Amino acid sequence: MEDCIFCKIIEGEIPSHKVYEDENVIAFLDTNPTSKGHTLVVPKEHVENIHEASGMDYIWDPIVKVSNAVKDAFNPEGININQNNGEVAGQEVMHMHFHVTPRYTGDEIEIEYNREELENGDEVAEKISEKID
Ligand code: AMP
Ligand code: ZN
Repeated sequence: MEDCIFCKIIEGEIPSHKVYEDENVIAFLDTNPTSKGHTLVVPKEHVENIHEASGMDYIWDPIVKVSNAVKDAFNPEGININQNNGEVAGQEVMHMHFHVTPRYTGDEIEIEYNREELENGDEVAEKISEKID
């Protein structure tokens, strides 16, 4: 995909700090890490977001492998795996990717969710489940 920075990394047109690669997946360090070891796991096929990612189950093992490697390398107390879809969700690079973000006590990462009590759970669950094939 032209003008996609991650496609260019995959093609070797621009450099990255690669930590893992297989036939379908590449993982490299985030250039603006939120914590030490922050790594991105990226399918080589250009898809924009999760809605186009059906069948890409091969991405899961590399996520686990990278998470284990980051844990062994830096011994974080925890790890966040996150994946943003759409600008409103914080997606900046429109080539789907998973963040493996090690978490350390005292790190200054803030993830805030305004949680409310679930209302109309039956109706909401049904609306979703009827859309699943
Ligand atoms: P997102 O906001 O979920 O789309 O995340 C995009 C991430 O890609 C950000 O954390 C950026 O720091 C990171 N990023 C952008 N350009 C590069 C690059 N050339 N190499 C590595 N990471 C990058
Ligand atoms: Zn791409």
